[in-house]
Amino acid sequence: MGYIQFEDVHKSFGNNEVLKGITMGVEKGHMATLLGPSGCGKSTLLRCLAGLEEVTTGKVYVDGKDITDVTPRNRNIGMVFQQYSLFPNMSVYQNVAFGLNMQKSPKDEVERKVKEMLKVVGLEEKIDQYPAQLSGGQQQRVALARAIVTGPKVLLLDEPLSAIDAKLRHSLQIEIRRIQKEFNMTTIFVTHDQDEAMVMSDEIHLFHDGRIEQSGTPTEMYTAPRTRFAAGFIGSYN
Ligand code: ADP
Ligand code: MG
Repeated sequence: MGYIQFEDVHKSFGNNEVLKGITMGVEKGHMATLLGPSGCGKSTLLRCLAGLEEVTTGKVYVDGKDITDVTPRNRNIGMVFQQYSLFPNMSVYQNVAFGLNMQKSPKDEVERKVKEMLKVVGLEEKIDQYPAQLSGGQQQRVALARAIVTGPKVLLLDEPLSAIDAKLRHSLQIEIRRIQKEFNMTTIFVTHDQDEAMVMSDEIHLFHDGRIEQSGTPTEMYTAPRTRFAAGFIGSYN
């Protein structure tokens, strides 16, 4: 069983079955990418793991524990969304402190942890700024700091770089990878960009129309795609 494990997860919205039986595991400490075209159910799967959506049927496990019916707050999972992630009316400090304040951590501890985390993402000098005063890349680094300041074991990143321009994206990919390893967070990174998946992941799970088409290491996926869809999407097939 993976550190994160989905067992035959189905999710429907009305008559629209979006997840059609997902069984997949992510190894402890790995960065796994969920790769697939827009609309295939990637965000829905992350939201089911975070508890923001209820699964229709199936089970979700973290560290061997069935969390299918656990409330989002008690899942200890950090999440970064595509964009507009930050609270616009709160300063950088207040944004990063949010989760710690929810946990009622003592004020001096909140201050120490927020400062430490801003150092990790290289934004100490922005502590009193507001989101609108920051670039897109800086905002996503704050969102990352906010997601991991409470020390989650699992980190979910839903296309966090898709609104960032290509030049900056690469350095942010490297930075996210470094932080993920440093904090040893088992991470699922959602993307529709196969190049990003190749750079970012220990394991790739290729998603197609609510199902996992193929899972493997980047090299396996690139050199031995098992279906025409996988070959077409990963890009070694001409
Ligand atoms: P992806 O992240 O791969 O682009 P999503 O998981 O966002 O795909 O969406 C998959 C499908 O589920 C889409 O058809 C979308 O319209 C539908 N969907 C997602 N969330 C909801 C919702 N809250 N209510 C109804 N349909 C939804
Ligand atoms: Mg999505």
